[in-house]
Amino acid sequence: MRALQIVRKNKLPVFVGIIYILLYILVPDKADSAMRNSIYYLIEMFEVLPVIFLLTVALEVLVPKEWIMKRFGEKSGFLGNILSFILGSISAGPIYAAFPISKMLLSKGASVPNIVIILSSWAVIKVPMLANEAKFLGVSFMGIRWILTVMAIMLMAWVTGKILSRKELLSGISTTTEPNLYVNQDYCIGCGICTKMLPDVYELINNKAVVKLGIAQSENKMMIIKTVEECPTKAIVRATEAT
Ligand code: SF4
Repeated sequence: MRALQIVRKNKLPVFVGIIYILLYILVPDKADSAMRNSIYYLIEMFEVLPVIFLLTVALEVLVPKEWIMKRFGEKSGFLGNILSFILGSISAGPIYAAFPISKMLLSKGASVPNIVIILSSWAVIKVPMLANEAKFLGVSFMGIRWILTVMAIMLMAWVTGKILSRKELLSGISTTTEPNLYVNQDYCIGCGICTKMLPDVYELINNKAVVKLGIAQSENKMMIIKTVEECPTKAIVRATEAT
């Protein structure tokens, strides 16, 4: 029973483990090379991620939410897009280093389109990468690719912003019939106060509270306000407070 629980909690590593076992049985030489690559990337991640997490924590603590919202938020406009391009383009490190930083920026008020711009420019138009590209493939190739890539990134950012809202991303809910209430997953400590107060509205999933789908907020308005006040980490956000 306990083993089953562990498997359930670690579906992805278990799945990867099974794939490796199958590979070793069916194509051992390929499995060897896959294992070597995996170890190489794991070591790289262990070298890079601690620095990124420290940087993320430092930014989280030192940079005020208002500052992020003004420069990268919904109302930052074209200037916010340009700043996002610059941030993504001058960054260093592999793309997976961008995810914790993007998540922090998102939780502090950055808009979805600007997060798309940061991630995309981090991945494909970093300055050191452009310099190497120009050296090997020529300046005109690099310039044309850069212009087309920037146009594609802008389009992706716009479309993603239309499809996904910040609140949906933060609450981890892809679609909801309750748009006015969400739990900021970064701040929830899973204490269960809200789920005990209003089990019809909140539920704990993976030790984090989420708003149940399809709830009628108007019926629970006063109690919802109470849960917002009682939440020890102020993780519950109502639309009037949301950005
Ligand atoms: S009260 Fe706050 S911290 Fe506790 S579960 Fe609810 S949202 Fe999370």
